[in-house]
Amino acid sequence: MYDMDLPGHRGAVVDLRPHCDCGWVADRHFPSADEATAHWFREHALPLVEAEPPSWLLVKSDVLREQVEELIRTRPEVALKLLTEIESWHRPLTERAVAAARTSGASWNDVGQALGVTRQAAHERFRHLS
Ligand SMILES: [Zn+2]
Repeated sequence: MYDMDLPGHRGAVVDLRPHCDCGWVADRHFPSADEATAHWFREHALPLVEAEPPSWLLVKSDVLREQVEELIRTRPEVALKLLTEIESWHRPLTERAVAAARTSGASWNDVGQALGVTRQAAHERFRHLS
């Protein structure tokens, strides 16, 4: 039995058919509540989880940002050196991620959505990679 609760998604089994409070409903009923719950997890929740960065990495990102903010307050020149170091690997990794996403079939619209920019902005910035 799975816990049917994710941030923004709370599942429930009604008449042996899995539902989610986001509006998703399975296309069929199941022989048992356990099977209905497993279907909600496998077909609805898991793809949502896999489409987002792992929460433990987001926590590390938040910690790094907070520590850089503390450096800016206490030793701004050291913060600049650290930010320069981060910039030296951030851009090449972003380019590798865009190239990998495009190779695996992502459209410029998909890439733009992941980066939080328009399709056109993503294409203009990264088209040299294709
Ligand atoms: Zn949902």
